[in-house]
Amino acid sequence: MSGEQELGITESKEHNPGDWYAEVVQKAGLADYAPMGGFIVTRPRGYALWERLQGYLDGWFKETGVQNAYFPMFIPESYLEREKDIVEGFDPEVAWVTQGGHDELEERLAVRPTSESIITPFISQWVRSHRDLPMRVNQWCSVVRWEATETKPFIRTKEFLWQEGHTAHRDHESAWEETMLRLEQYERLYEDVLALPPLKGRKPPHDKFPGAHTTTTVETLMPDGKSVQAATSHYLGTSFAEAYDVAYADEDEEERLANTTSWGLSWRALGALIMSHSDDQGLVVPPTLAPDQVVIVPIWQEETRDAVLEYADGIREALAGAGVRVRLDDRDQRNPGFKYNEWELKGVPLRIEVGPNEVEDGEATLVHRPDGEREVADREGVVDAVDDALDTVYAKLYAAAEERLEENVREAHGRGEILGTIGRHGGYVKTGWCGDEACETEIKDEIAAEIVMVPLDDDADPVHEDCGVCGAPATTTAYFAQSY
Ligand SMILES: [Zn+2]
Repeated sequence: MSGEQELGITESKEHNPGDWYAEVVQKAGLADYAPMGGFIVTRPRGYALWERLQGYLDGWFKETGVQNAYFPMFIPESYLEREKDIVEGFDPEVAWVTQGGHDELEERLAVRPTSESIITPFISQWVRSHRDLPMRVNQWCSVVRWEATETKPFIRTKEFLWQEGHTAHRDHESAWEETMLRLEQYERLYEDVLALPPLKGRKPPHDKFPGAHTTTTVETLMPDGKSVQAATSHYLGTSFAEAYDVAYADEDEEERLANTTSWGLSWRALGALIMSHSDDQGLVVPPTLAPDQVVIVPIWQEETRDAVLEYADGIREALAGAGVRVRLDDRDQRNPGFKYNEWELKGVPLRIEVGPNEVEDGEATLVHRPDGEREVADREGVVDAVDDALDTVYAKLYAAAEERLEENVREAHGRGEILGTIGRHGGYVKTGWCGDEACETEIKDEIAAEIVMVPLDDDADPVHEDCGVCGAPATTTAYFAQSY
C-alpha cells in the first residue's frame, strides 16, 4: 500500500458497474482472486458476512425441524448416473477426480455439483416407515460447477459456498408445504436481513432444476437492471425417490414412494447484497450483517487527547454492553478524515464522532453510512439513539431497494415493446405467456433476457389474455429480465 489514494474506490458504480463491483469486493477486504481462474479467496470480513447470514438461516431451519449433517464432497459416477436428469443437467459442469495418489481410480468421482445423488440414497436407508417422515437434512458446504464464464466474486465462481436442504415426505401435500416453507424463509432473509425485497415465483418448466417437478425461486433486482436468482426451492415429486428407492411402509403396511424436496441458497446472496447497497465510497451493508455495526472515531488535540479517549471508551463500553458490535478506532498515527474514509470503504453502518465539544456538552454525533445524515445524541441516551439509528439505516437501505424494484417492473405487450422496454430500462417486463419456450427464445436471442419467473398463483396476477410474444392465448404471466 503506497498511498492513501489507493485505498479509495476509483471506479463508478453508475458508469462501470462491473469494475466498480470488483474493486469494492477487493478494497473492502471481502475477497481476493485465487491463482486458479474461477476461484476466490474469502477474506475474514467477507466470511464474517457469510457467517452472520448463516446464523439467521440456520436458526430458522432448526426451528422448523431441520438437522444438519455432512456428506462427502465426492460422488461415485454410478450414483450420479442413477438420476438421468441430474447427469444431463450437470454433465458439462462436473469436475472429476480420476486419480488418487499415483493410482488410477476404478470408478471416477464427481466433485459434487449438488448432492441429491449422494444424500438421497442415504435417506433411502434411513427411512423405513411413515413414522420416519418427514425427514429433513441440511448441509453447509461448497459445491463445484466448472463454468467457463468470467469470474465475479460471490456471483459467479467455479466453487461456491451454500447450504442444501434435502427432505422426504409421505405425500405431495407435505412436500409442497416444505417447498413453500423454505421459499418463505429465503424471502424472509432477503426482507429482514439483506434489506432487499425480492420477487417470489417459479421457474418456467424448461428452466427448472434437473429432475424437479417444480422449481420455485426468489429473484432480486440489481441496480444495473439485471435480476439475480437469489435462492431456489425445488419440489422434486417422486422422481428422485424412484431413482434412489426412497420407499416407506405406510399405515396400511403398503410400500409407498416418498415425495422429496431440495432447496439451496448460496453466497450469491452476498454478491446481491454488496452490489445493491454499496456506492462510490465503498461497501454498504445493513447493520444485521455488518461485522462492525458502529465505529467510534475520536477527534483530539494533544491537550484533549486523554479526556476524549476516556469519554469515547465509555461510549464503546456502554454500546458493547448492550450487545452492539462496536469498535473504537484509537489509532494515533491516523487522522480522523483517514479513518472516516476507511470505515466508509469497509461498510460500517454507523459512525460516532467524539471530540472536545461532545465531551463538554455530554453528547455524541452519529453519522449514517448510506447518506451521511448526522444527528446528535445525549450521552445518557446514546445506547437507545444508536439502536434507533441502526434501524433507520436498515429502513433507508430497504426503502431504496424497494423503490428501485417498484419502478422497474413494467408491463409490455408485443415483441417490439418487450425488447424496447428491457433494452431501454432493464428491470422486469411483465407480460402474458403462452407457455412455449420458443417465445422466450425469440426475446433471449435478441437481448439475452429470459423468463426469470412466473407468479406462483397465476390467477392472482392476470395481466394479459394473450402471449406478449406470439399472440396465442396466455396461460400465465411471465417476468422477463436479463440476469446474472
Ligand atoms: Zn407465445
